[in-house]
Amino acid sequence: MTDTKADIALIGLAVMGQNLILNMNDHGSVVCAFNRTTSKVDDFLNNEAKGTKVVGAHSLKEMVSKLKKPRRVMILVKAGAAVDSFIDQLIPLLDKGDIIIDGGNSEYQDTQRRCKKLAELGLLYVGSGVSGGEEGARYGPSLMPGGHKEAWPHIKPIFQGIAAKADGEPCCDWVGEDGAGHYVKMVHNGIEYGDMQLICEAYHLMKDALGMSSGEMSEVFDEWNKGELDSFLIEITANILKYKDDDGSYLVEKIRDAAGQKGTGKWTAISGLEYGMPVTLIAESVFARCLSSIKDERVKASTVLSGPSDTKFKGDKKEFIESIRKALYASKIVSYAQGFMLLREAAAKFGWKLNYGGIALMWRGGCIIRSVFLGKIKEAFDKNSDLSNLLLDKFFSDAIHECQDGWRQVVSQAVLLGIPTPALSCALAFFDGYRSARVPANLIQAQRDYFGAHTYELDADPGKFVHTNWTGTG
Ligand code: NAP
Repeated sequence: MTDTKADIALIGLAVMGQNLILNMNDHGSVVCAFNRTTSKVDDFLNNEAKGTKVVGAHSLKEMVSKLKKPRRVMILVKAGAAVDSFIDQLIPLLDKGDIIIDGGNSEYQDTQRRCKKLAELGLLYVGSGVSGGEEGARYGPSLMPGGHKEAWPHIKPIFQGIAAKADGEPCCDWVGEDGAGHYVKMVHNGIEYGDMQLICEAYHLMKDALGMSSGEMSEVFDEWNKGELDSFLIEITANILKYKDDDGSYLVEKIRDAAGQKGTGKWTAISGLEYGMPVTLIAESVFARCLSSIKDERVKASTVLSGPSDTKFKGDKKEFIESIRKALYASKIVSYAQGFMLLREAAAKFGWKLNYGGIALMWRGGCIIRSVFLGKIKEAFDKNSDLSNLLLDKFFSDAIHECQDGWRQVVSQAVLLGIPTPALSCALAFFDGYRSARVPANLIQAQRDYFGAHTYELDADPGKFVHTNWTGTG
């Protein structure tokens, strides 16, 4: 290894790092592996990476000495302080023009801060979303790189080589400046929360309102996966529902109904609140997980609080299943429309030039939300790159119009039967609000002016703020 230098170094030999290294190796790159606990370097070289071109290093200095210039160093460690620690250790070892890439789930503000700091030192920094879990990392992830664009030509062949392909195109392209890559990954994860919650509500309705077994529901999801809902999450749901435990019963029904979360859905909802964008479906999905996790409290409340006595749907079962499919599809359209609204707002705030069709393509394959549906979103933005809202694209407005009767039927039945459908319901409320030329905010303005003299505008004279003495006193 004195002559052949490595193309890239990868720090972090946990699940993601190991698999990404093997993927890079398959695509012709020589990778130098490093890990804080250096014994893991030898373990990796002697086991998973045995017989490959992967080389190892036992110190960062040794790792840097083994790299071609400009040096490319990718960090895939626990997000937060560990990333800063590695950056600080790398700075004195690197030269101007060398590139540091963070592929972890870092908060986009951290990436913005790191971009700024490294730019001042003449180093290039890339914050890249990596999606697809272990399997994606090994055989084709969705990659969302952003940061210093000068770095892109140096990493593009490696990134696009290892990325998943959809319709022959790599699910990886340059996203935008500073924290844009990690922001887009964050919104991706938020949308993932929404997709999962919508599927859970469809399952809940079929199970409780229609009394269907897991096996029967699995067949429905299998069927849905052949149409416009064709996606990874619908596919795995069908597989999960039919999976039987050793005793022959459905395993999913034995799993405790308390959902975990790692934070990216919450960050998306917080960002929506911060920038004033109503990503209601993502926020409701995060809150639904929060409500699920107070299991003991719910169990106690279930003995005190009661709902409707009738909890079974009485109408045509087949028709209702089709309405649930339509409700799920329409709500999914709303969720993606909301996600893209948030991306547009963040882009305006930070001056990012986001390519929305390109983002849809990056999510089209390799990642958890991959679906045929994302191809339609790409088509919508390809047709009109200035599209202000997905709901205004003809394909999606036609789809929603086609689905809305079934959607309304499902949400109203859920309310009548006492089955919670926070995501399906809030999506419908958003749709009805978004398509309304007039909402009751006039009364809010009057109330604010009444108690706080906050002033209001008249429809007839926008831009002019006036105050009324509502009580006629003082
Ligand atoms: P992880 O469990 O998040 O992190 C383990 C790695 O981080 C190990 O290499 C560990 O080194 C290192 N590390 C932890 N604390 C450290 C510290 N204080 N200083 C230095 N190194 C430290 O690994 P992962 O699951 O492979 O994920 C890596 C990154 O990718 C994370 O940001 C994760 O959020 C993101 N991600 C994960 C997935 C997934 O499906 N797992 C998917 C997409 C993105 P030691 O071996 O020395 O402990």
